[in-house]
Amino acid sequence: YTGKTSLQLVSDSIKKITVKEYQSIPVVVDKNVSVYDAICTMFLEDVGTLFVVDNSSILVGVLSRKDLLRASLGKQDLTTLPVNIIMTRMPNITFCEKDDNVYEVAKILIEKQIDAVPVVKRNGEQLEVIGRFTKTNITKALVDLIHEDM
Ligand code: ADP
Repeated sequence: YTGKTSLQLVSDSIKKITVKEYQSIPVVVDKNVSVYDAICTMFLEDVGTLFVVDNSSILVGVLSRKDLLRASLGKQDLTTLPVNIIMTRMPNITFCEKDDNVYEVAKILIEKQIDAVPVVKRNGEQLEVIGRFTKTNITKALVDLIHEDM
């Protein structure tokens, strides 16, 4: 008997869940695509956050639904407006790694008031996008955790 309360046992099992078990496939766009094309990609791929990369999967930006909505309110021609003008850019991007704990990432999403983070692999100074981790992935982890107990 470990002497742990049932609450400690629950939090221990949550802390064992890692990002790689629940991450999704990243949906990325090249930094040179137009806002118009990014909007099409967001609809076609059915995601709420796009990651912007340079020619070798290196993370340079993030585009949310509201970033694209805001850009659409302006008078600019969306077919010629490049996403790198409106995206949130490095070094202001919050990211995680595949071995991070789901709970730690959940806390960060709440603190930063964002819906998703890219899962990255460090490549020297650069960050290569290898996944996407969202509030939906956290909800799935929670549902699985409760399901295991039934
Ligand atoms: P929305 O803007 O559609 O409500 P979010 O809450 O995810 O979606 O995004 C809010 C703002 O934070 C946007 O300007 C977006 O570019 C930015 N953002 C989203 N995800 C990240 C991230 N992982 N790192 C830094 N900024 C982000």
